[in-house]
Amino acid sequence: MSPELARAESLIRSIPDHPSPGILFRDITPLLADADALQATTEALVTPFAGTFDVVAGVEARGFILAGSAAVVAGTGLVPIRKAGKLPRPAASVDYALEYGTATIEMHDDLPAGTRILLIDDVLATGGTLDAGRQLIERLGYVVAGISVLFEIEGLGGREVVGDVHTVFRSA
Ligand code: AMP
Repeated sequence: MSPELARAESLIRSIPDHPSPGILFRDITPLLADADALQATTEALVTPFAGTFDVVAGVEARGFILAGSAAVVAGTGLVPIRKAGKLPRPAASVDYALEYGTATIEMHDDLPAGTRILLIDDVLATGGTLDAGRQLIERLGYVVAGISVLFEIEGLGGREVVGDVHTVFRSA
């Protein structure tokens, strides 16, 4: 790992019992606040997939932030995948289970069929969110070019659920 990435990793903060007891919350906001760390991690999210995707999709809410910087670095557009009820004209929705609670995500269908999408989120835990994102993308006739995540919490089975996923950092 490069010194820039090692430094970025050191900026991820672990908060016990947030948002509920027993959850060790991985807080990436100190990393986001640091220009060099944000630059290095954004490049690490995108570089393995260079030239293989047409647009970036991010999952609400922290995935939006990383997808935004990733799209700018890659020179592509950005599609939001939002929690139910937020998009004005959702074309499809998928229900899924979280490490804490349940949720539904939705997406528009303004892209041409077959568009290759790089799916991005901040944390991979049980894998439910990214699996639902993949289902949503495929249901709308698009192609998942890759899945890229900033931080993987190991031991929760996420990688087994999501399959082929690139993660920049992993829990020890
Ligand atoms: P999962 O669907 O279980 O893989 O959970 C991933 C989603 O929930 C991501 O969008 C994360 O933002 C959030 N998340 C789940 N667990 C954590 C955690 N321990 N720390 C920070 N975010 C988490």
